[in-house]
Amino acid sequence: MRFADIPAHKDVIDRIRQIVDSDRIPHAILLRGPEGSAKFALARATAQYIHCTGRLQPGADPTDSCGICTQCIQHQTLNHVDTHYSFPIVKKKSGSNPISDDFIEQWREFLIESPMMDFETWCAKLASVGTSTAGVSPMFYVSESDALAAKLATTSRSTRYKIAMMWLPERMNEACANKMLKLLEEPQPETIFIITSDNATEILPTIYSRCQPIEVKRLDNNAVAQWIVDNKNVNPEDAQKAADISSGSINAALRQLDIAASGNDFFDRFVSLMRLAYQRKIIELRLWAQDIAALGRDRQVAFLNYCCRLLRENFIYNLNMPDLNGMNSSERDFSKNFARFINERNVLKLNRVFEDATTDIAGNGNAKIIFFDVAVRVILLLKQ
Ligand SMILES: [Zn+2]
Repeated sequence: MRFADIPAHKDVIDRIRQIVDSDRIPHAILLRGPEGSAKFALARATAQYIHCTGRLQPGADPTDSCGICTQCIQHQTLNHVDTHYSFPIVKKKSGSNPISDDFIEQWREFLIESPMMDFETWCAKLASVGTSTAGVSPMFYVSESDALAAKLATTSRSTRYKIAMMWLPERMNEACANKMLKLLEEPQPETIFIITSDNATEILPTIYSRCQPIEVKRLDNNAVAQWIVDNKNVNPEDAQKAADISSGSINAALRQLDIAASGNDFFDRFVSLMRLAYQRKIIELRLWAQDIAALGRDRQVAFLNYCCRLLRENFIYNLNMPDLNGMNSSERDFSKNFARFINERNVLKLNRVFEDATTDIAGNGNAKIIFFDVAVRVILLLKQ
């Protein structure tokens, strides 16, 4: 990761460069700021800049890592010998004393697939390797601080500095935090911690006070849109729309786009629900519910949100104020005949049906039963 790959944040990059160039690198740098603002990408670019030897060669650009020296290649392939990663994990089903290195392959995949570090994606990745995450949020265990201490006690192998990159220290249990504090209080020589936090106020104050904080502000919407266009093969108009409703988080914008990509699928399911409910086709509605129950819970919730939105759009459609409508062409075509079924008597009640279902799904209820219940209530409300 080079500074050139980071969206915006010119002031932060200038400050980091100044610190490194003047050879006054603090023992622990804390990049703090909102989720999805490219903090860990900044941390990676900083580590690569510190280690890069190519940028100091005659004729090279000294303001960014070169991207081609051995150090840079090791960083870019996430295999740098003097760089160590610590991040929240879960316990494996068997075994104890979990450490980040147990999940290093999943971690490398995650950094490649989700360089803006979407925590939900990380949770899904941990769940996919057969570990138990049900009801347990990924965290740092005390074994992590022991493992890191052992690594940092060895001398660096190919560069001056050993770097410990830490993601989300707010997810440390207390025992781990106390041991980690020791590492920060009695630093090994030539060791740098680069720590990134989404919720710095939740970091143990004694740890926080050992770090030099650098504030990373939320990205502006245009920077979010531009990063998505450059990295995700999305057209500029869609990227901008997603960015405009994502509060400066690239991850939130990408989730919006994922939902947008599911739009047709959701539209078809919504149309089926309404048609079958209107015709009171109970057996088909049971199959409809089973079909949706097979989706993941995140998608089920996204679908229910979509239903709420389309309800609202159809209610507004009746007001004949096209400026207020935000439907695509297939949704609008459907509304020509459907909107008249959504009226003042049933719109709030129907909305409640989807909201209740969202709560029940989020509470791990049985999706087949919940969605069949949705269908039955829609039958009753559609003709009011
Ligand atoms: Zn280099």
